[in-house]
Amino acid sequence: MRNILILGGTTEASALARLLAECGERATLSYAGRVDNPRPQPVPVRVGGFGGAEGLAAYLQSEGVTHLVDATHPFAATMSGNAVIAARQAGVAHIALTRPAWRAEQDDRWTHAPDMAGAIAALDGPARRIMLALGRMHADAFAVQPQHFYLLRFVDAPAVPPVLPQHHLVIDRGPFGVEGDRRLMQEHRIDLILCKNAGGAGAQAKLIAARQLDLPVLMIDRPALPDRLEAHDPQDVLRWLDHDADRGV
Ligand code: NAP
Repeated sequence: MRNILILGGTTEASALARLLAECGERATLSYAGRVDNPRPQPVPVRVGGFGGAEGLAAYLQSEGVTHLVDATHPFAATMSGNAVIAARQAGVAHIALTRPAWRAEQDDRWTHAPDMAGAIAALDGPARRIMLALGRMHADAFAVQPQHFYLLRFVDAPAVPPVLPQHHLVIDRGPFGVEGDRRLMQEHRIDLILCKNAGGAGAQAKLIAARQLDLPVLMIDRPALPDRLEAHDPQDVLRWLDHDADRGV
């Protein structure tokens, strides 16, 4: 029987875990451990880093993993790089389940930053009211631009409050809707949305709300990811498992 390891932390990973469980496949879902109370899953879960590519390769071998599905977030570039190296080292079939990037539509007012440092630098200037849709990992880095008001939305309440001098924190794990996001932006008189090009439907509401309110978006572009086989739908991963994986396609 094949033994599948899913590198998770995304809705796509959870959807794949559900699908594999329904099909009676043997699968384990791996989390980095960034969220305090992850949703219950229909497959066994392991939590915490592997110790780099070497550690992941050792884990794949010791656990007898036959197929590795990297369903991490498109900004989890270190993990995705390690997955490519480890799968090759351990001789395990590998695919990435990932979301296509968002593209600006006609009425969108997007500017782009190449990375987090670029986004922070782009905020140099007069005070604004910014929705910082980045999660808790990066919020404190914006303290070097203290002139702005920041609207934050985290999955969990942080143990230590954000260091940003002017902020409002919403605790909510979604899913988010256009109506609710538009109301939130209006309530806090937001005049700029800052987010990563995560892609996918789950986090897109804020972009549609921004379009409807004619608000500008500062979009952090995706990091470079390694060359690898990619699927955009859990069903495609299933097809790959059934037809292509063992041929090394
Ligand atoms: P990263 O920078 O690529 O990963 C840093 C380290 O965290 C990795 O080297 C690995 O440690 C460990 N790690 C990451 N994903 C893991 C997983 N699924 N299972 C076990 N260990 C994992 O990633 P990140 O940006 O910190 O993201 C961490 C997790 O949050 C990912 O699972 C990702 O899917 C999820 N996430 C990230 C974002 C985002 O914007 N970055 C957004 C939503 C969800 P070792 O080297 O020790 O193995």
